[in-house]
Amino acid sequence: MDVLQIIKDKMQRDKKYRPKIGVMGGTFDPIHFGHLVTAESAREKFELDCVIFVPSGNPPHKIHQVVTDKNHRYLMTLLATATNPYFEVSRIEIDREGYTYTIDTIREFEKQFQGRAIFYFITGADALNEILTWKESEILLTSCEFIAAARPGYQKQQLYADIDYLKSNYNGRIHFVEVPSLAISSTDIRFRVKNRLSIKYLLPEAVENYIYKNMLYRENE
Ligand code: ATP
Ligand code: MG
Repeated sequence: MDVLQIIKDKMQRDKKYRPKIGVMGGTFDPIHFGHLVTAESAREKFELDCVIFVPSGNPPHKIHQVVTDKNHRYLMTLLATATNPYFEVSRIEIDREGYTYTIDTIREFEKQFQGRAIFYFITGADALNEILTWKESEILLTSCEFIAAARPGYQKQQLYADIDYLKSNYNGRIHFVEVPSLAISSTDIRFRVKNRLSIKYLLPEAVENYIYKNMLYRENE
């Protein structure tokens, strides 16, 4: 039985139970070990009942770049998370028409869990830094908890400053999680595939094989 069914059954039996649900949003073009270790570290530290990965549909902040077909990104996310019993993948943004926004996703999840779940949106330092540009960011900041992870290339001091700023000016409930630092990015992986360089040990083997089978990242960028 999948973890979401287990959570829903428990909610049915125990009316006081409030599940803690991690939400890991991203373009996942492709998903890599940086995403996976961040989600797992957050799950463990904050004792989350599960982490739902939400591949974006048409990300508004990436309009100037070619983004791989959303079904490929969804399938790679499924392959990457299949071996973790606490990880789930949602099609919510994939199936939505038009641009996709985190606030709409959180609202939809709130309904799905009858307003009883506590959501933890997991982000890397770079995404946290951009949060005020997101749709209805002020409402978003008070609708869920945030878990921010440091990411190589982004100053940790800057991350702490961002966390403090969002906490004191927007009442954001922002937590910090330490993750084994992996200087991996999807941009670098796409570059490496295009230039016939190895991508081994940067992402799960199943995703690596999927990329080659479907000849992704050969031409774009
Ligand atoms: P791209 O290079 O295409 O922007 P990316 O590697 O940044 O891809 P995204 O899908 O943009 O991946 O990121 C999704 C989320 O994962 C963001 O919150 C981002 O900060 C976080 N993230 C990505 N890579 C890492 C990493 N190596 N360590 C920690 N967090 C990461
Ligand atoms: Mg990114």
